[in-house]
Amino acid sequence: MIISDRMYALGSARSVIRELFEYGKMRAAQVGAENIYDYSLGNPAVPSPDSVNRTIEDILDNEPSIAVHGYTSAQGDAGVRQAIADDLNKRFGTAFGKDDLYMTCGAAAALTICFGALVTPECNEVIAIAPYFPEYGVFAGNAGGRLVEVPADTKAFQIDLKALEAAIGPKTRAVIINSPNNPSGAVYSEETIIKLAALLDRKSAELGHAIVLISDEPYREVVYDGLDVPYVTKYYKNTLVCYSYSKSLSLPGERIGYVLVPQEVEDHDKVYAAVCGAGRSLGFVCAPSLMQKVVGRVTGQTSDISRYKKNRDLLYGGLKEIGYECVKPQGAFYLFLKILGDDTEAFCERAKSLDLLVVSGMGFGCTGYVRLAYCVSEDMIKRSLPVFKKLYDSYR
Ligand code: PLP
Repeated sequence: MIISDRMYALGSARSVIRELFEYGKMRAAQVGAENIYDYSLGNPAVPSPDSVNRTIEDILDNEPSIAVHGYTSAQGDAGVRQAIADDLNKRFGTAFGKDDLYMTCGAAAALTICFGALVTPECNEVIAIAPYFPEYGVFAGNAGGRLVEVPADTKAFQIDLKALEAAIGPKTRAVIINSPNNPSGAVYSEETIIKLAALLDRKSAELGHAIVLISDEPYREVVYDGLDVPYVTKYYKNTLVCYSYSKSLSLPGERIGYVLVPQEVEDHDKVYAAVCGAGRSLGFVCAPSLMQKVVGRVTGQTSDISRYKKNRDLLYGGLKEIGYECVKPQGAFYLFLKILGDDTEAFCERAKSLDLLVVSGMGFGCTGYVRLAYCVSEDMIKRSLPVFKKLYDSYR
């Protein structure tokens, strides 16, 4: 065969989420979109703020086209990186500079770059806390890494620190966290982050090498009720941040984000150079130039998050009233519902037979739960509640 078996397997196995989404479109054509309740995909439903389109127009009208569409530095335009650093410093009291940032095609590329920069044959284990974004396994594998799963704390979807400690060993290179979390909607509290940092400090000293904390935070600004999302680099010095504008600014198709390597990181300049090297080796240099310029100007702004909060309240309230169990989401736009019965796949199938499309928790490392992406219309949530009731009653 002239192909890599690993890549063939990845390319030919369709994602469960995508498959459901395609199924939803097919069913909508058959029975009408108003009769399908599609909670499958985390595609933002709230438009970008007007400032995004205004900024694009302004750049196209007023900046030389050859510069707008040309290559930037491999790590991104210096002015853009400085603007992002300035915004972070203003919001979080940090002291980042342009040489701490590497612009990427969203969080996916940022994560792949981090794994590429960090994983070695001797230290190839990356620990993920369930429930977690399924692509972590694919991205870590690409760097020759192995994803080690820590079981979920299903009480509050914080971190089971005892289980995490048990998972750390001599081959541990990094721990990856994601808060606000996809799929649980949980936000890790300051207490959780403080305890996590203390554990990683202690285990790093024991192992004689630093364990890197990778904070994957595309939902940082998607939080409700004025909740504070601790800025992780302030609690643990060996933290790398993977950020994306896909969700905060509803720009997932524009593919823009960054890796942040704070100065406090051990051997900062070498780690940053390794990030640049991983970007180079993956061909992830010079993130989309126009989008770099746009986010450089609007970074810190967000889409109208209050619309997701309204959806959260409507869906969470409605499901609880029916009798379902779930932890109230504090951020992102996902709700992690405890299944009825004891077979997650059967629950998904029964929901699907009612045209209610929900994603099994299995791919997120957490069976017994399903994910509902509520970045949908308010109307669809309202129409879906009687169907959730029907599903509930079918288990009584
Ligand atoms: N990390 C998490 C937790 C996500 O939910 C997603 C996308 O849904 C990503 C990373 C990738 O995001 P991006 O569109 O920025 O590549």
